[in-house]
Order: sequence, then structure tokens, then C-alpha cells
Amino acid sequence: MSERARQRTSRTAEALRLVSVSKVYGTGDGAVTALDGVTLSLPSGSFTAVMGPSGSGKSTLLQCAAGLDRPDRGQILVDGEEMSGGSEAALTRFRRDRIGFVFQQYNLLPTLTVEENTSLPLRLAGRKANRERVRAILGQVGLGERLGHLPDELSGGQRQRVAIARALVTRPGVVFADEPTGALDTRSAHDVLSLLRETVRLHGSTVVLVTHDPVAASYADSVLFLADGRLAGHLSAPTAEAVAERMTRLGDGAAGRRAGDGPLMGV
Ligand code: ADP
Repeated sequence: MSERARQRTSRTAEALRLVSVSKVYGTGDGAVTALDGVTLSLPSGSFTAVMGPSGSGKSTLLQCAAGLDRPDRGQILVDGEEMSGGSEAALTRFRRDRIGFVFQQYNLLPTLTVEENTSLPLRLAGRKANRERVRAILGQVGLGERLGHLPDELSGGQRQRVAIARALVTRPGVVFADEPTGALDTRSAHDVLSLLRETVRLHGSTVVLVTHDPVAASYADSVLFLADGRLAGHLSAPTAEAVAERMTRLGDGAAGRRAGDGPLMGV
């Protein structure tokens, strides 16, 4: 059975569901409603960008949906399984088993090789680090020849590809990528976004990309817009221009400029 077919049979059709998720920071007069009853559903094998003006709740959505923080209200389900509202240890386990992360600054351990960094989530989870699987994933991201290299010996784009391999190694229900191209040049950004798209197409992974860059968002199958902690629209088969235009309407004057001057324009 192919990897894709295997994942299909072991997965629900819905990778991520949020039901009326709310999060308030602070109390009294200083309280800020960062998320205000967000309900959404992302199918397995989808590539979704989340966009919105600064302060619209993107980071909070990511933190809550990925189990890094807890919402005040609402439910979060990954692959049909509800995220634990229980102990910190249970939440950590849930996150480790079901969620993959790709961060802007790669977060690789400098003293571990490419292969060791990639297998780390398996070892932390007490699972056997299947060498063939780790090497196959590194081959898929184009790093099959760099297994023994240290992060310092790689370019930014290559480091981010290690981070993507590391995010995929546990076969998570959802991979969250938080501004994954924020530190990359145009060419490397294109490579990383294309790789994320390919990962979804070829391997049926589910990717949520949080970004402020309309060009980065245009690599996704669809874009969800946030404003003031609420869903404020949706765009299928997005172009960078359509995303930038929507962002301008949401009140982010910088979006139009970003579409023209951003690091990815011209890709
Ligand atoms: P975005 O990622 O879209 O810029 P955030 O999720 O970071 O938005 O923030 C949403 C709102 O919540 C903003 O008004 C922000 O100031 C507020 N906020 C975020 N984190 C905190 C925090 N730790 N304490 C207080 N307010 C916060």
C-alpha cells in the first residue's frame, strides 16, 4: 500500500476542527479578546493559509490549534480526536503525537546532524527511530546527501527543509508552519513553499500556513482571513493579488505594499 493510501485509510476526512474557540488575554478593563468564537474545519490533505492584519489573532489561533496554549472556550479536534483539556503532560503528548511544527527560525539543534534532528521527535516520543523512514523523508525534501551535516553547514532553505522533514516524521494529523519563509531569500522561500505544497499533494499531509505575505499565501489551496479574532472570509485558489486586495479591505494598509515589495514577489 502506498504511503498516501495508508494515510488515507488511517485518517478521518477532517484533519482539524475548531468549534467556537475563544481566547481572552488579561482581565477587566485590560482584557483583549484575541479569538472570538472561531469555528472552522480543514479536510485532510488540504493546504490552508491563515492571514489577517496585525493583531487579528493569527498567532493565538496557531497557539491554540496546535496545543501550545489553551483556549478559554471551545473545542479543538485533530483527526477526530479532541485535544485534551486535562493535564499539561496529556496536552504535551497530544501535541507530540498529532502535530508537526515548522517555525521561522528553524529551531534545529546545532549539535545534532540532519538525520539526528529529523529523528528527534520520534526519540522524544519514545518511538523507534526507523532509519529507513527518516532517510526516505530526507530524500523527499532533497537532503538525502546531507544526512551527516550539522545545521551550521546548511543554507537557510536547507535548514527549513530539515525542519519540514522533522515535522513530518511522526506522521502528524496537521503541520503548522508559522511564517516559515520569513527568514529566507526569494529563491529559498519559493523552494520551501513548493515543498510544502508537494508534501500535501504527494503524501496527503495537512498543512496550515500562518503568514502575513500574500505571495506565500498564494501557494496554499485556500486562504482563511481573520479580523478582530473572527473569521472574516475565505478565498479558494488564491492569487497573491487577490489576497493582497482582500487584506487591504480588512484594513491592513501594509498588505498592498507587501505584495509588491515582499521577498517573494517575482517568483
Ligand atoms: P496576530 O498574530 O494576528 O498579530 P495575535 O494573536 O498575536 O495577532 O494577537 C491578537 C490580540 O491579542 C492582539 O490584540 C494582541 O495584542 C493580543 N495578545 C496576544 N498575545 C497576548 C498576550 N500574551 N497578552 C495580552 N494580549 C495579547
